[in-house]
Amino acid sequence: MATRSLALVSAVLALCLVAGARAGALEVEMYRGGFASVNSFIFSNGKTQIVMDVQRKSYEADRFIERVKAKKLPLTHILITHGHTDHFTGMARFRQAFPEARIVVATEEIKRAIKAYAVYMDSGGETGAEPALEPALKPKTPQNPGGFDYENWIEVLPSKTLALDGGGTLELTTDYLPAEADYMTTVYSPELNAIFLSDFGYNGVHLWLGDDISRQDIANWKTELGRIKREYTARNPTVYPGHGEVTDMSMFDVVMRYLDDYTRITLAAKTRSEAMAQMTALYPGWGEADFFLKYSLENHVKE
Ligand SMILES: [Zn+2]
Repeated sequence: MATRSLALVSAVLALCLVAGARAGALEVEMYRGGFASVNSFIFSNGKTQIVMDVQRKSYEADRFIERVKAKKLPLTHILITHGHTDHFTGMARFRQAFPEARIVVATEEIKRAIKAYAVYMDSGGETGAEPALEPALKPKTPQNPGGFDYENWIEVLPSKTLALDGGGTLELTTDYLPAEADYMTTVYSPELNAIFLSDFGYNGVHLWLGDDISRQDIANWKTELGRIKREYTARNPTVYPGHGEVTDMSMFDVVMRYLDDYTRITLAAKTRSEAMAQMTALYPGWGEADFFLKYSLENHVKE
């Protein structure tokens, strides 16, 4: 009996040691959305978790929420990288599912950009490229008191380091020129040696160059990719793009070349279909040709 108790105690102790070893080791899980091929992420360490970006469709946010719940860990933060709907729409669903989690952004400008985009979408911004704002995201106003309270429900982080309770840090960078969005957050995890580029990074998915993205923004995008590449090459991190599969540092040259090809082709093309044919020939099999590329060409090829 005594021997059996001892064995039991040893077994329990061993389990505790395994659990103890796991807590603190940061892990990342990527959720690949179907709509817009947009990525969301779960950072977890055995004690708590943080998510980054929350999908364009509520039904996809719901699927992503199931993955977060399956980890059975408290969700402390919902980090939104920039003010585009494919990254922030799921906020309302997350707020319902995880009322204790804080919705956070890295800068006041990003908070303003999210709110401004939602207000714009709510007041007739719907286009072929941009489906209607999901009802739960309609801004709170005197006429719509049950709406989403952007002012009070989104917090600006006090520093550029977001530490997970239980171990692991996310280093946020925001000092970028206007590019795919006017304000963007990238995240580096030293524990994972991984960089999360948000929409500076696309892999096998056509780049979003629609709406208000100017030729100067495109030039800035290339400049910033060159800068990020120089900064991280020696560390050789895993590279997680905002759209498309996980990759490595080789992505930088591909996206910079894409921006050059796109610029050259759209300056010379007489029609959008001519530009579409050239881009899809150069980038066969890339995703979102009928969405991102189509509306990008509407922006840059005037017929
Ligand atoms: Zn995006």
